[in-house]
Amino acid sequence: MGELANCSHCGTVYVKTIRDICQDCFKKEEEAFQTVSQFLREKKNREATILEIVEETGVEEELIIKFVKERRLQPTDFPNLAYPCERCGNGITAGKLCENCQKELKNDLAVLEEEERMKQEREERERENIYFSFNQD
Ligand SMILES: [Zn+2]
Ligand SMILES: [Zn+2]
Repeated sequence: MGELANCSHCGTVYVKTIRDICQDCFKKEEEAFQTVSQFLREKKNREATILEIVEETGVEEELIIKFVKERRLQPTDFPNLAYPCERCGNGITAGKLCENCQKELKNDLAVLEEEERMKQEREERERENIYFSFNQD
């Protein structure tokens, strides 16, 4: 008997596999993917946006975004498959954040790291001072 887990989609308890969703949801997801890819295969639909796909196919927006993130739907083939950046809402086709936000966050991180480094240096100097003054006694 394998390990049990809760399906991250419907919450059902299932025997854990490499997937984080249960067999039922996996099947539904595959069907949804087929529906979406069939829809996009038609030339006139190639430039559909995610919202248009939701309207036309009835597949959940969340799932379509998942397919884009997993690169099952290639933004190079379908130019309008953008979904909103989690930070600023700009259209993106990969990851969770747009390039701008990634850059900004990286800068924030760099500042934090620099502060952390300076704090450590200060602490080290303080330790050395204590050591020296201790020795001089
Ligand atoms: Zn499920
Ligand atoms: Zn952004």
